[in-house]
Amino acid sequence: MKSGRQPACTVDGSRAMTERRRAASDLSRLGGGTRIAAVFGDPVEHSMSPAMHNAAYAALGINRVYLAFNVKAKDLAAALSAIAELGMVGVNLTVPHKEQAAKLIKRLSSEARMLAAVNCVINRGGILYGDNTDARGLERDLCAHGLEIREGIAIVIGAGGAAASAILACARLGAAQIVIANRTRERGERLARRLSRAMRGTQGASQLGARGLDALVDRELLASARIVLNATPMGLTTPRFARLDYQATLGHCFFYDLLYGAEPTAFLKPAIALKRQFADGAGMLINQGELAFELFNGVAPPRGVMRAALHARFRADSK
Ligand code: NAP
Repeated sequence: MKSGRQPACTVDGSRAMTERRRAASDLSRLGGGTRIAAVFGDPVEHSMSPAMHNAAYAALGINRVYLAFNVKAKDLAAALSAIAELGMVGVNLTVPHKEQAAKLIKRLSSEARMLAAVNCVINRGGILYGDNTDARGLERDLCAHGLEIREGIAIVIGAGGAAASAILACARLGAAQIVIANRTRERGERLARRLSRAMRGTQGASQLGARGLDALVDRELLASARIVLNATPMGLTTPRFARLDYQATLGHCFFYDLLYGAEPTAFLKPAIALKRQFADGAGMLINQGELAFELFNGVAPPRGVMRAALHARFRADSK
């Protein structure tokens, strides 16, 4: 006969049981009336957005859930039309869908049109609206760090969608000059031309130019920079960051990496060693998520809830 006693739990076993109980009680609020928000990406398994948005739903007691769907590029159009068909409240888009979605969605905010990228699709009564909260998210984070770049020089490394958002944020904060430093110089030049045209008369009067990665060892340029932002995956997809003459920057130069994680990024480590001010992209991620949450649900998430959820995920992932 089996004993009625449960086997003694290991520390890991009891933690797993607590997690299962918590998941079960969270799931009990789901039902026929639950509405869905989501992120579409490929890959998407690493996304922090479900943890952040679901924490905000739980804090507000709203009967909604946020999921992650792995959507291949070839299936994006079908997945977008499912948003209205399934009555989803909205969807965030991540790599590789942002640019393609800007071509597929008819109604775009001026910002999404300017950036030629959508990171946020809102379902308003079956009609889809494309917006982009990346630049506003970064702008908020730079302001939260008390950064004053008015009349200053900004160096933006990269020339993809994230770099475009960084340029727009710096222009709005009044940077006099923005230098794009990109591995493929022609791509940087194309972005500079396109954004100069798009921002004319609306987003400040920043002078935009493009160079290759040689700009990162130009001591004169670096000495005049108020901020250097990394908008590339270097250090994540490569073992090292590009050669950058950190010593040439002045003490007030701010280093911002759009990448983020539990540990300092490869781009930030030398800046930290030189005691320069710095931040990683976690703040941008949180701010763009808070803005998206409000667009999807018509209510702002409680302050600090998404940040706490993100940091809890970092801690869990680093164990
Ligand atoms: P993307 O469109 O693919 O652009 C990548 C850029 O990085 C290009 O300019 C590319 O240069 C450059 N690059 C890639 N690998 C390189 C290498 N090995 N050496 C030198 N340059 C390299 O990507 P994206 O959408 O702009 O995103 C860039 C990064 O920002 C991503 O890692 C993403 O995670 C991050 N991001 C963060 C947030 C946030 O909320 N914190 C939001 C958006 C994006 P070429 O033109 O020469 O190929």
